[in-house]
Amino acid sequence: MKTTVLGLAIAIAPALLWADERPVLPCDDEQSDVAERALEGAESLARFAENALNDADFDDYRQIFRWFNPKEEDELEEVLDVFENILVWSESVKFLCIAGSVPEGPVYAQVLPTGNFLVELGSLFFEAEEGGRDSQAGTLIHEISHFVLVGATNQNQEEVYGWDAAMELAAKDPEAAQQNAENYQYFAESIFWPDLTEN
Ligand SMILES: [Zn+2]
Repeated sequence: MKTTVLGLAIAIAPALLWADERPVLPCDDEQSDVAERALEGAESLARFAENALNDADFDDYRQIFRWFNPKEEDELEEVLDVFENILVWSESVKFLCIAGSVPEGPVYAQVLPTGNFLVELGSLFFEAEEGGRDSQAGTLIHEISHFVLVGATNQNQEEVYGWDAAMELAAKDPEAAQQNAENYQYFAESIFWPDLTEN
């Protein structure tokens, strides 16, 4: 799940919350168009990320170490697997839209990681930009990485949210960063939109 940057972090919504406390509805036509466009965007992001990991140039390495900080080659392989799995499974993704308010406040989106590729979209998703930091496409990278068949990110650790916090996580605890959905999102966004990380 991804809530606001302020974090109200419920790491992974348990099944009961999913079923009982978050009314979800089929997305309307307009919402579906936005979601499908974002999914195409997410596929482009994943493809760029895959290429960067397979054949990294200097700038790609900067981003690899910024967001994942791998110490061993096989750590890099595991990160690559996640992006490859996103590309394998993205066409199975379906959307629902969260109706009304939810107990934790507005959310970008959430998934049940063991579920079959159903992504629930919240109001923050529809307020997000198509491109750039915290984009709609990047949000889908984050969410899809949670699925057990893709990356099982944050299965065993709380989510760390936000650009600076995710970067700090990579510096302090690379293995945790390699299991944190947000790091996949920000890496992919940084590769696809290099102007995001001029600094
Ligand atoms: Zn999440």
